[in-house]
Amino acid sequence: MEPNYSSTTVTPDTFERDFVFDYLIVGAGFSGSVIAERLASHSGKKVLIVDKRNHIGGNTYDHYNEHGILIHKYGPHIFHTNSREVFEYLSCFTQWRTYEHRVLTSVDGQLVPIPINLDTINKLYGMNLNSFEVEEFFKSLAEPKEYIRTSEDVVVSKVGRDLYEKFFRGYTRKQWGLDPSELDKSVIARVPTRTNRDNRYFTDTYQAMPLHGFTRMFEKMLAHPYIKVMLNTDYREILRAIPYREIVYTGPIDEFFNYRHGILPYRSLDFQHETHDTPVFQSAPVINYPNEHLYTRVTEFKYLTGQEHTKTSIVYEFPKAEGDPYYPVPRSDNNEIYKQYKALADAMLGVYFVGRLATYKYYNMDQCIAQALSVYGKIALKV
Ligand SMILES: Cc1cc2nc3c(=O)[nH]c(=O)nc-3n(C[C@H](O)[C@H](O)[C@H](O)COP(=O)(O)OP(=O)(O)OC[C@H]3O[C@@H](n4cnc5c(N)ncnc54)[C@H](O)[C@@H]3O)c2cc1C
Repeated sequence: MEPNYSSTTVTPDTFERDFVFDYLIVGAGFSGSVIAERLASHSGKKVLIVDKRNHIGGNTYDHYNEHGILIHKYGPHIFHTNSREVFEYLSCFTQWRTYEHRVLTSVDGQLVPIPINLDTINKLYGMNLNSFEVEEFFKSLAEPKEYIRTSEDVVVSKVGRDLYEKFFRGYTRKQWGLDPSELDKSVIARVPTRTNRDNRYFTDTYQAMPLHGFTRMFEKMLAHPYIKVMLNTDYREILRAIPYREIVYTGPIDEFFNYRHGILPYRSLDFQHETHDTPVFQSAPVINYPNEHLYTRVTEFKYLTGQEHTKTSIVYEFPKAEGDPYYPVPRSDNNEIYKQYKALADAMLGVYFVGRLATYKYYNMDQCIAQALSVYGKIALKV
């Protein structure tokens, strides 16, 4: 069931008249919550953290559904990082469950490992190559390009057109609504092909899931007497009602400036959650569907959480243009718009812009946490 935070919710009439929050933090995702936690517990600052959603945790929010299965409301979130600092910081608020993520892709009627590895190639082409031979095989497929401009160039120059069509083209078209030939090379900056049989999705040093879920971890981060949480509230509703000294803003930067320089586009997703009356639904935590079907992937949560249950819950992801902002669209015209907003942001005093929406960057969780810790470090130098 979705938790009820009413006991921590504040309303304007609960304030003493001369009370002033040191910081108003907009957004209770990782970016806002990390800064709130640091400001309160390390700098002794009084913080009000506001989110327009009815829960903390931002996009990483997880909860037990009506069948008692722990699910991720906004799609699968797998924690992985090479940063010891980030891992140790989060370890103050959670125990961990070791988890190495694995993904299969449905190609030509078969399920094969992604990133592409030795087994992928052998299964797909009915061969029996070894690591040295597969390297030569990739070279024989590659179509070298003089200039790498687009995401298509990145893939075709590395593994050739057949693997590009099978694994990348359809998936990218669905995910971004654009052909890879129209997308900046940074979207598929690197094609992680492996010549060995390593079928882990990530190779980071630290790969683990919070033992009791992300939301429980956020509850611990925000459980400080100097932190008040206000949910179901757009910060603009309370700006004039609640006194504060400075703002940490983790919402969309174009919205903050009333879209003065235009709208920054995002890709959004529809999530179709289902529960099935069987202990196991599919043979891997995530199965990608690059070609057939309108959805991009299907996730079965029990693999991620380690939960045992007679039923199982899954989610389908359908990309779309409108809706909640999830993925900034990395095109040079959008970056130009962002630069204009950044200039406005840089000129403001007492407002800090942090996180993936406020900096218009696709950040993984660990990158958000690292950025938030770094911004907190700069604030702490001043206070
Ligand atoms: C489908 C999907 C899967 C992902 N999987 C992974 C993964 O496996 N591993 C990984 O490391 N990362 C993953 N990510 C990235 C991860 O979600 C982000 O790095 C992280 O959640 C961003 O945290 P944030 O606090 O910056 O933003 P958010 O989590 O979006 O938090 C911002 C908050 O601000 C609130 N807000 C916005 N405007 C206002 C307003 N006007 N007033 C009040 N509140 C407001 C929003 O409601 C939101 O809760 C994934 C992202 C998506 C979309």
